[in-house]
Amino acid sequence: MPSEFALIDRHFKRPPRHSILGVGDDAAIVRPAPGMDIVMTTDMLIAGTHFLPDDMPFNLGWKTLAVNVSDLAAMGAQPRWALLGLALPTEKALDDPWLAAYAEGLFDCAEAFGIDLIGGDTTRGPLTFSITLFGEISTNRALLRSNAQPDDDVWISGNPGLAALGLAQRQGRCQLPPALHDRCLDALDRPQPRLALGQALSQQALAHAAIDVSDGLLADLGHILEQSQLAATLHFDRLPAAALATDIDRQLAANCLLAGGDDYELLFTASRTHHEKILALSKQLQLPLHCIGTVHTMLDSPARQIRVLDADGQEIQCLRHGHDHFADAHLPADDETDR
Ligand code: ADP
Ligand code: MG
Repeated sequence: MPSEFALIDRHFKRPPRHSILGVGDDAAIVRPAPGMDIVMTTDMLIAGTHFLPDDMPFNLGWKTLAVNVSDLAAMGAQPRWALLGLALPTEKALDDPWLAAYAEGLFDCAEAFGIDLIGGDTTRGPLTFSITLFGEISTNRALLRSNAQPDDDVWISGNPGLAALGLAQRQGRCQLPPALHDRCLDALDRPQPRLALGQALSQQALAHAAIDVSDGLLADLGHILEQSQLAATLHFDRLPAAALATDIDRQLAANCLLAGGDDYELLFTASRTHHEKILALSKQLQLPLHCIGTVHTMLDSPARQIRVLDADGQEIQCLRHGHDHFADAHLPADDETDR
């Protein structure tokens, strides 16, 4: 084994830009700008559960940080400082090219979003990455899950479902057409957190509530509705369904769209009065934003949180809402693989 310190120095120590003290001492030191609140999040990626051990190390480095950036994007915050918890089996600790590629992916993402890696912990163990990410946000500007309002529009960024289709392709559960193949695998391996969108929504006070779609569109909308104590109606034909236009299995495409995880698109609710401004923002960011439904109070009994209507206004019965590591434990194995 290389010494833990040599490994850290070689791969994870780079001069910080937004921090007073970075990697190397007992702890790091940062100073938020005046008038800013600190926002924090942590996310763990475990081999076999969230990724496959032979995934490309560059992509793993990127994704480790990107999934955390996505959480801060959903708050409307600017990420600044990251801590990396790393458990490495011996063969990976000895694999210098693997570590170098992992670090390269991680620092690529750090640079893309203005983040310093300022510390962490390294230990021998089953391959696991854990990032704790700190960011800044102006006081009282955060986009909370609990703040959706009746009559809000429901919006989604980008093309949810692509990452889940990429996973299905990789696991041999479908054969994607050439037009989708690279897009879906890119979405799975190199998710692009919607940071500029989250920040614009919070700074221009355009959204009431937001969440990043990590567990599936319906499941994550459900989190907003639960915390806001509201319900929503979605229109299936307004969803950005890139995959439905191709010849892959419609059921699979629809499941990925409504319940596929790992996309890291932003789902948000906003007053109808901001509809045009949000469309203008979409143009400015060159990011598709689709208005897919409406928030309302619980209408019927038994109360249903989310209704999905087809083009004729008929309700579509949705069986799966998304991924839950514990709730799914009893499901038959053929249903969906763990993420
Ligand atoms: P200590 O024994 O005092 O906890 P460590 O040996 O764990 O210190 O770490 C030494 C320094 O290296 C600390 O500044 C720590 O934050 C940093 N560090 C350890 N592991 C990592 C890592 N995977 N990525 C970035 N910095 C790390
Ligand atoms: Mg330590």
